[in-house]
Amino acid sequence: MAITRLLIANRGEIALRIHRAAREMGIETVAVHSTADADAMHVRLADHAVCIGPPAAKDSYLNIAAIISAAEITHADAIHPGYGFLSENAKFAEIVEAHGITWIGPKPEHIRTMGDKVEAKRTAGKLGLPLVPGSDGAIDDPVEAARIAEEIGYPVIIKAASGGGGRGMKVCNGPDELETLMQQAGSEAKAAFGDATVYLEKYLGNPRHIEFQVFGDGNGKAIHLGERDCSLQRRHQKVLEEAPSPVISAAERDRMGGIVAKAMADMGYRGAGTIEFLWENGAFYFIEMNTRLQVEHPVTEAITGVDLVREQIRIADGRELSVTQDEIVFSGHAIECRINAEDPFTFAPSPGLVTAYHAAGGMHVRVDSGLYAGYRIPPYYDSMIAKLIVYGRTREGCIMRLKRALQEMVIEGVKTSIPLHQRLIEDPAFIDGDYSIKYLEQWLAESAE
Ligand code: ADP
Repeated sequence: MAITRLLIANRGEIALRIHRAAREMGIETVAVHSTADADAMHVRLADHAVCIGPPAAKDSYLNIAAIISAAEITHADAIHPGYGFLSENAKFAEIVEAHGITWIGPKPEHIRTMGDKVEAKRTAGKLGLPLVPGSDGAIDDPVEAARIAEEIGYPVIIKAASGGGGRGMKVCNGPDELETLMQQAGSEAKAAFGDATVYLEKYLGNPRHIEFQVFGDGNGKAIHLGERDCSLQRRHQKVLEEAPSPVISAAERDRMGGIVAKAMADMGYRGAGTIEFLWENGAFYFIEMNTRLQVEHPVTEAITGVDLVREQIRIADGRELSVTQDEIVFSGHAIECRINAEDPFTFAPSPGLVTAYHAAGGMHVRVDSGLYAGYRIPPYYDSMIAKLIVYGRTREGCIMRLKRALQEMVIEGVKTSIPLHQRLIEDPAFIDGDYSIKYLEQWLAESAE
């Protein structure tokens, strides 16, 4: 059943990342692309390439029929969805499997359960993960909602069951605005996700976002690869991530990691997953699980030496994980900066022609990017164009190296978020590791004054 030809149902840096892992395993790759991506790096490097439609994602990277046809005509025997696009679409996973193609991802039923945040919370609770206090499932009755909000205490956050990407959330500060905000949240969720279901949670004042990387073999064995701290966010979107978290001790990592790994083992989870928590005053609160590879996975790779995409492919291929929990050693510190094609301070998108490109290099510096000089960044997709991942034996050394690497990066022709990262890593609170999920927005507001 060994995989010999892998179709990558994605674009940009993650398509390249998957291509590289496949190549290193002796697996051929098939790139699929929209007409806007004909000149993309992953298309150039793959063994085979198939155009699957016009620029709009719904007609290409989300076009299930076109992707399955591409797999059939190229005789691909496996599909890796990357992140975003179809990666958390249980229906797509089922269709792939129904065509006799290996799906490099979790079991479809687990994707479905975790994709519904109400169901996910219920499942996490049953598996023994600590939850944010809130409504027991979906809620639509304003009287009942008011009672629960009173009980858990304001402020509360109204969240869409089908929400994602930081969208579909409303913070409510008191009973007067609860009913209106619930209605707004419901209709916005309906418009964005086709599902008006909402639920309530206590709004934590100053938490950190700390997530655990897990891996399951689908047969009751699971391991964790420690945590990542993704508290530096703008509009609930991650900007810079680090591993390990500056606030988690080795003992706490082992304890919490043990709890999440056991939960995944009990569930029979297969493949890579991330359990996201908010963390405040030493306590963890589950918020959601992502049933896919994350953008920030390289920081975990840097401190564990484990190639997460390779493990994904191995498990999908019915092989064992290549490491046991005891063999995973956490060493040193890693930070990832997401580099976007946008104005570093107004965040206005800046697609267009890259006139010059030079990637930082040197010891322990990794750049995951499909950029090259002469490449035209299309305006149709996510603005992230590169990830800079830097490793150091200590956090302090890592920050010094990151400063050096950011200085070396050259991307000309478009605006990028490099200047934002350069300023952020000079910030005393960042250097002290003393920040919460609110910090970046406050810092941006203050720097704008
Ligand atoms: P999404 O699926 O849209 O990413 P999450 O549930 O993961 O939604 O939440 C995204 C971000 O929103 C979190 O990282 C955090 O910054 C904020 N957030 C979510 N729930 C809460 C809460 N109960 N209290 C405070 N902030 C929250």
